[in-house]
Amino acid sequence: AYLAKIRQTDEKVGSFITTQADNAIAQAISIDEKICRGEDPGILTGVAFAIKDNICSSDSFTTAGSRLLEVHQSPHDSLVVSAIKAEGGIILGKTNLDEFGMGSTTENSAFGVTSNPWDMRRIPGGSSGGSASAVALKQCAAALGSDTGGSIRQPASFCGVVGLKPTYGLLSRHGLVAYASSFDTIGPVTTSVEDSAIVLTALCSRHNQLDSTLHHTNSSRFHDHLKNLEHFASKPLSGYRFAIIKETIGLGVQHDVVQRVLEAATKIERLGAAVDFVSCPTFHLGLPAYYILALSEASSNLSRYDCIRLGGKTSRDEGFGAEVKRRILMGSFALSAGHSDAYYERAQEVQRMVEAELACKLQEYDAFILPAAPSPAYLKSEKMNDPLAMYSGDMMTVNVNLSGLPAIVVRGGHVENDGTLLPVGLQIVGRPFRERALLEIAHAYE
Ligand code: GLN
Repeated sequence: AYLAKIRQTDEKVGSFITTQADNAIAQAISIDEKICRGEDPGILTGVAFAIKDNICSSDSFTTAGSRLLEVHQSPHDSLVVSAIKAEGGIILGKTNLDEFGMGSTTENSAFGVTSNPWDMRRIPGGSSGGSASAVALKQCAAALGSDTGGSIRQPASFCGVVGLKPTYGLLSRHGLVAYASSFDTIGPVTTSVEDSAIVLTALCSRHNQLDSTLHHTNSSRFHDHLKNLEHFASKPLSGYRFAIIKETIGLGVQHDVVQRVLEAATKIERLGAAVDFVSCPTFHLGLPAYYILALSEASSNLSRYDCIRLGGKTSRDEGFGAEVKRRILMGSFALSAGHSDAYYERAQEVQRMVEAELACKLQEYDAFILPAAPSPAYLKSEKMNDPLAMYSGDMMTVNVNLSGLPAIVVRGGHVENDGTLLPVGLQIVGRPFRERALLEIAHAYE
């Protein structure tokens, strides 16, 4: 059914770069055989997945949205893909993204633009736009995205689905094409919080020694805890304390987006929690710091794509798109001798300030609630020629990556734009490695 849906819709929407129907059917048959033999294929039995195409899988190409990697086939599965396969999930294909994850619209892809299923004239957000649109359109049951500065959460908000960015280090980055390694995370895109918890449980079930930043935690069945919660009836959030960061509902944020956050706060209070307003004066410093740090890391990470390793088939000049080149240049500049103290090191100082401020507030509060983006999905091409306008749309998400915190985006309501209804996500940011509490909160809210 999912493959049929893809066949019917994907020419128009463009969620996928590659589909692997034969492979998916073969996987389904082998799972069916396991069931017939009385074996348990795992907690993802028969769940149809789409994987963002910067996450390596050995049975298809992994392009990262780049012409340079058009025919790149990884010799191994990423750890998250092997976890999905080991738990009985079925992989339908690889989804479109901004090249190397660099962008917020899925327009910077060598393989075309993805449309927003709510309004085809609009972008689905990015960089995991293909994963979000595939889930929104039910071309798959769940997807994986990656989030370096908001790339799971902002598309989830724009497409009306659930996107989880786990704490940095909870899931292995082994097999994720690097953008900015100290911020890169992988996470699920789903239609419900419960599904997100099930996928996270599966992804956490496997470890290897191939990611030195992986934090070893005890495995947890996140979805089981959600069931316990249902016993608390009408006030599941009593005892929880939430904070709305004043700077996230002020200047530069669309009025009806703010309205949805305030309505969410009222709903959360009705569920038994206390909600306060707090000020985070460092909030606006995060965005420029993120762009210095992420681009610096990107310029270093992307230096591996040289003509020696690629066999001289495509040159960097032909292979990289305009946005990627812009970022390599800016990142190299920020790191260069004579400039790194003014840019890179200052940005690191700001990162520590942002992180310290959020950590301090999280001693008092269980979670922050804020918009996932300052606006709903905008029209295609609107920000293509204005990179700064596109970057500024990331202001609600990047501080979470600077601080390594976990965050989830759930449906927060809708806004009307030119007569079309567009979804608006609510972002909930929790304490590090407390995904269980974060999912409980999101489930209660949902
Ligand atoms: N839009 C942000 C950027 O371009 C975040 C991208 C991401 O999370 N991969 O850097």
